[in-house]
Amino acid sequence: MKDITVQFLGAAGTVTGSKYLVETADKKILIDCGLFQGVKKLRQLNWDPMPVDAREIDCVLLTHGHLDHCGYLPRLVDLGFSKRIIGTAPTLEIAEIILRDSAKIQEEDADRANRNGFSKHHPAKALYTVDDVETMLTQFKSVDEDQWIDLAPRIKARFTYVGHILGATCIELEVLGKILVFSGDLGRQDDFMMFPPKTPPRADFLFVESTYGDRLHPKENIKERLREVVNQTMKQGGTLIIPSFAVERTQLLMYLLWQMKMNKEIPEVLMIMDSPMGANVLKVFQNHKKWHRLSAKDCNDMCASFKMTKDYKESMAFIEDESAKIVIAGSGMLTGGRVIAYLQHYISDPKTTVLIAGFQAEGTRGRQLLKGASEIKMYGKYYEVKARIEEIRGLSGHADQQGILDWMSKLKNKPDHIFIVHGEAHSADALRSKIESTLKWDCHIPELWEIDEL
Ligand SMILES: [Zn+2]
Repeated sequence: MKDITVQFLGAAGTVTGSKYLVETADKKILIDCGLFQGVKKLRQLNWDPMPVDAREIDCVLLTHGHLDHCGYLPRLVDLGFSKRIIGTAPTLEIAEIILRDSAKIQEEDADRANRNGFSKHHPAKALYTVDDVETMLTQFKSVDEDQWIDLAPRIKARFTYVGHILGATCIELEVLGKILVFSGDLGRQDDFMMFPPKTPPRADFLFVESTYGDRLHPKENIKERLREVVNQTMKQGGTLIIPSFAVERTQLLMYLLWQMKMNKEIPEVLMIMDSPMGANVLKVFQNHKKWHRLSAKDCNDMCASFKMTKDYKESMAFIEDESAKIVIAGSGMLTGGRVIAYLQHYISDPKTTVLIAGFQAEGTRGRQLLKGASEIKMYGKYYEVKARIEEIRGLSGHADQQGILDWMSKLKNKPDHIFIVHGEAHSADALRSKIESTLKWDCHIPELWEIDEL
C-alpha cells in the first residue's frame, strides 16, 4: 500500500453525498460528510453501512454547511465517530441550522408516514433525530480562514475563501509533504452577495467540483426576469411560490424582491418568507459581516419588508388565505419542508406560478416539474400540475465551467493528478474534456467507493 490513499464515499458520479476519506498508515481524515439526496437508490446509501468504521475516523473537515456536504454528520456520530468536526465559524453556524432542520424534517416525515401508513418500513424511522444533532454539536471546532492548523504529525489543513455560501472554503490538506486541494463548491466571480473565490497557491492532487462543469451561466438579466414573473402572476391574482435553498438563495431573493418593491417595479403585495431556517441564516449574515457584501442596514430593511412565519400554524393561515402573494419557502429542490404544504394547496391552480430558482438534482420533485411532469407525488398522494412552471437559471451560487477553469488555472503548478467530483456524469465528462483541451492537464472521474493511491 502507498503512503496515502483516498476513497470516494460520495459525490462521485453524482452531486450529493460529498465524502472523501484520506488515509495514511495511522490516520483517517474525512473531507465533508454529506447526505445523499435525490432518487431512492441514492437516498438508500444514507442507510447502508459505510466501508469505513466511523469510530476509526480521526477528524472531519467541512468545506461548507450545505446538507450535501454536512448532512450525514449526525449519523456518523451515531455510528461512533467521536472526534472533532472542523470548519470556519460561519460554516459551523450554518451547518447547525441546516442539521437541526434536517433532523426535524426527518422526524416529522417519519411521524407522518406512520400516521398515514404509506411507508415500507414499519414503523418508519428517521435517519437521525434532533437529539443526535445535539450530541454532534459538542464536537464542532471553528478555525480561522487562511491559517494552517495541525491535525497530526506531518498532517495539516488550511481553509480558503471560495464565496459559494457564507463561510464556504476550499481545503488544502498537507499530508506527508503532498498537498491535496479539495475545492468544495466554488462560488462565482460576479455574485450579488459574496466576494470572488480565492485559489490556493499549489496542489499536487486536486479534487474539483463539476456541478456546472458542462455549461456557462446564461447572460439573463436576473432582475428583469424576476420582475416579469412577479408581475405576470400578480396580474392574474395568483400566488408565486419560489422554492428556495435557505442559505444565501433565500436572502438573495429577499434582497432582489425588496429592492423591486422599494423601486415600485412590482406591486404592493404580501411577501412571505416561510423558512425558520432562512431567518436563522439571516442572523449568521449579521454575525459575520466580513464574509459578504451586505450592510447591516440592508439586512434590517430587507427583513422588515417580509412576513416571516414562526410555526406551522402560521404557515397554514397563509396557505388558506388565497389572495395574491409571493412565498419563498424551503426546501429548494422540493424534497421536503414547508414548500410542500403550499404546493399541495396551489399546484393544481392555474393562477399559481412556481419559480424554480436553483439547481435541481435528478430524482427530485423540482427536476420533475422542470421536465414538465403533469403530476407530482407528495406524501403518498398524486397532485395534478396546473401551475405555470418558470425558471431563473442565473441565480446559481456555483461557478460555471469557465469559473471552474479560471479558479484552477490560478494554481502556480500543474497538479500531478486531478479528480473530477461532485457532478452528474455528463457535467463531469464535459469538464474533463475542457480541462484536457485547454490546460492540457490529465483528469480522472472517480467512481463511488473507488480507492486511489496517491
Ligand atoms: Zn454547496
